[in-house]
Amino acid sequence: MLSENPRDDMKEILFEEEQIQARVAELGAQLGADYKDKTPLMICVLRGAAFFFTDLCRRMDCKMDMDFIAVSSYGHGQASTGAVRLVKDVSIDMTGRHVIIVEDIIDTGLTLRYLTKLFKARNAASVATVAFLDKKERREVDMNVDYSGFVIPNEFVVGYGLDFEDYLRNLPYIGVLKEECYS
Ligand code: 5GP
Repeated sequence: MLSENPRDDMKEILFEEEQIQARVAELGAQLGADYKDKTPLMICVLRGAAFFFTDLCRRMDCKMDMDFIAVSSYGHGQASTGAVRLVKDVSIDMTGRHVIIVEDIIDTGLTLRYLTKLFKARNAASVATVAFLDKKERREVDMNVDYSGFVIPNEFVVGYGLDFEDYLRNLPYIGVLKEECYS
């Protein structure tokens, strides 16, 4: 069970707000330069990427438009079901567009593989992937992310958009929960 003060539930803080914002600024500068004259279509994968997406887009100094998609990944608990289901689709036509998919974290790689295939089938001119966190050792499919914030070990993390049973998304830092929170 979670306590009323989220900091008390943390076994470890992996990244504090300042580190997160510094890395997002770097990624934004890089993406802004790489897509300077391409008017990328930025796609936010709801709900986990919400904070990262809005921070990142504001750090990209280029013309862009934005859309939102939701897929099912984890339900309640920490184990992925393996299945990816489209919950909410985008509404902008992506034919001929340079699409950038923005995810909170890449774990097995199933979600990003599914979305990349989907957008290529919709005739995007190019599809790039950005994930704030990368759990490299958990990959189950051959899927590399084009831009990533930090590579992290195989631990369940919360904060900066990432939830535990729908809570804790609002934390400005990224942490690992104490074991007792799961019981
Ligand atoms: P994948 O399809 O790559 O296995 O999983 C991607 C999704 O799983 C992420 O968008 C995220 O919703 C969820 N996920 C994977 N690892 C974690 C984690 O450590 N913490 C949280 N809160 N969600 C995770």
